[in-house]
Amino acid sequence: MSEITQAACPACLTANRVSSARLGEEPKCGHCGAPLFPGAPIDLGDAEFEKFVNRTRLPVLVDFWAPWCGPCRAMAPHFERAAAQLKGKVQLVKVNTEQSPAFAMRLSIRAIPTLVLYHDGTEIKRASGALDTGELVKWAA
Ligand code: ZN
Repeated sequence: MSEITQAACPACLTANRVSSARLGEEPKCGHCGAPLFPGAPIDLGDAEFEKFVNRTRLPVLVDFWAPWCGPCRAMAPHFERAAAQLKGKVQLVKVNTEQSPAFAMRLSIRAIPTLVLYHDGTEIKRASGALDTGELVKWAA
């Protein structure tokens, strides 16, 4: 028995229904054909963010970062490796707080990097400070 889950397309934000049995089979967006699970961090602005999180039934791990932040840059390759390891299980998203300052303020992001984990559009936990690949994978579980 396979369950049906839902994933927002990283490119066009269309909600796609995906059988859980097919999560590992490179499913593509029915609307635009983009891979639903790229296995890489997805860059989202504030306009796209809420749609993406609310239309995704898989856990979404978000890295709120800024280009001038040293620890953020140090964590970036770890975040990419974690995205590859968690492909089809957790969607990893990056939000540039410099481009979306009002949005970061609304979410009370005071320090960066801040990591926030969402399930079904609801924040379930957050942490401040950089993590390495293994810690990211464990934290998202
Ligand atoms: Zn799409």
